Amino acid sequence: MRAGMVIVGAGECGGRAALALRELGFDRPVTLVGDEPHLPYERPPLSKEAMTGEAPAIKAIASDELLAERSIRHIHSVQVVAIDRATHEVRLSDGSSLPYEKLLLATGSTPRRLPMPGLGARCVYLRTFNDALAIRAHLRAGNRVAIIGGGFIGLELAAAARKFAADVTVIEAQPRILMRGVPAEIAAIIHQAHEAEGVRVLTGQGIATIADDGAEVRITLADAREVVADLAVIGIGAVPVTALAAEAGLTIDNGIAVDAGLRTSDPDIFAAGDCCSFPLAVYGGRRVRLEAWRNAQEQGALAARNMLGAGEAHIAVPWFWSDQYGLTLQIAGLSDEGRSVVRRDLGDGAFILFHLAEDGRLVAASGIGPGNAVARDIRLAEMLIAKRATPDREALGSQAFKLKSLLAA
Ligand code: FAD
Ligand code: NAP
Repeated sequence: MRAGMVIVGAGECGGRAALALRELGFDRPVTLVGDEPHLPYERPPLSKEAMTGEAPAIKAIASDELLAERSIRHIHSVQVVAIDRATHEVRLSDGSSLPYEKLLLATGSTPRRLPMPGLGARCVYLRTFNDALAIRAHLRAGNRVAIIGGGFIGLELAAAARKFAADVTVIEAQPRILMRGVPAEIAAIIHQAHEAEGVRVLTGQGIATIADDGAEVRITLADAREVVADLAVIGIGAVPVTALAAEAGLTIDNGIAVDAGLRTSDPDIFAAGDCCSFPLAVYGGRRVRLEAWRNAQEQGALAARNMLGAGEAHIAVPWFWSDQYGLTLQIAGLSDEGRSVVRRDLGDGAFILFHLAEDGRLVAASGIGPGNAVARDIRLAEMLIAKRATPDREALGSQAFKLKSLLAA
């Protein structure tokens, strides 16, 4: 068989990379291997529209027709179980092997498991479309849903469950929700929105025991209170899928370690998306791992260019969003790089917090507001971060001052 490009993981990043290889004119075989039974699809709707829409369906990144037209071979429901770096082959769970010229690992991340006894069939995680379908079957008026973890999965799912008038309790071990990466001021607004919509949000609450008897889940909190639920959804973070890379001897460092061009410690193997950690140029090469939709897209496309020899570095500024009820949160950059904050009000309750480093450099911007209220200014902030700008604090804080003019300066 003629070797070509092999991509492990048919998710956001793998799907985009396969399409990009063809857009770049690569004309030898492109094979996308995924262990899920579906076409490559978007995950963000799984905690949003796919939960609340009439007929849940995957939002495919590429249809069967498009994959066929681009001569992309999609092998689904099959896992890549080993990489033989010496012979340039991967071994699949169906016993077959595939040769590769260059290999892309786009294996994503998987829910962090709650390390407690007592979990059963009514204690579930949300990562895949099949997980979403299983959860949705429990969303109906009055059904009791306990959500363990006040992070993005938990909160978006809480908002979706309230659309069905389910009885929702969120349990967060930290003193507040969205402790990591979201400023307290913004987290407080999201917390209030959930309470206003009838969600019970319990913060600073560790879990002492869980007992799932198949009919209901009994959760005892550290303070001895009990939450009884028909379904418990656990959203306590994600871990990168690295076992395949580790077994092949590739360097692992909070994910599959890659260089700025997404190359692993083997020059013929690349990694991209949720599964990899990489040096982020805009923060002096700090090694990060991002779990975000746009990053997976951008890195999929960049990996494709570099598999074809472009030699480009990943220079993008991190960005992600979350939708809950009518509110949209957007964050550009890494807010933990900031030492001081300037607030800019945008009207209608929308505002942006600009995070500045000690030397005055803009390192992040976090905004919240109804609908698209913060989108334009966050986009401009992203460009200022990329330029390593040191904008005037007063200008940043004044709604009358056009951010665009700072960009020109
Ligand atoms: P994935 O999309 O996880 O794809 C990896 C694929 O590889 C999976 O299908 C996996 O099963 C497969 N795989 C792994 N190992 C193997 C193997 N050995 N062989 C074959 N296949 C394998 N981000 C945002 O920015 N905004 C949002 O609003 C948002 N909402 C989200 C909502 C949910 C419910 C979830 C789960 C995620 C959300 N994200 C959001 C995060 C975003 O979806 C991820 O960052 C993105 O999907 C990462 O893409 P990826 O291709 O790296 O990994
Ligand atoms: P997350 O955002 O990291 O949030 C997990 C939360 O659960 C954290 O606040 C965590 O606190 C808390 N937690 C950890 N252990 C706990 C315990 N034992 N009891 C109670 N709470 C506990 O992760 P997630 O919400 O599970 O999301 C998983 C993945 O989906 C991530 O990749 C995420 O990016 C992605 N996703 C993204 C979006 C979005 O960007 N809009 C939406 C949905 C999903 P600590 O900080 O102390 O660990």
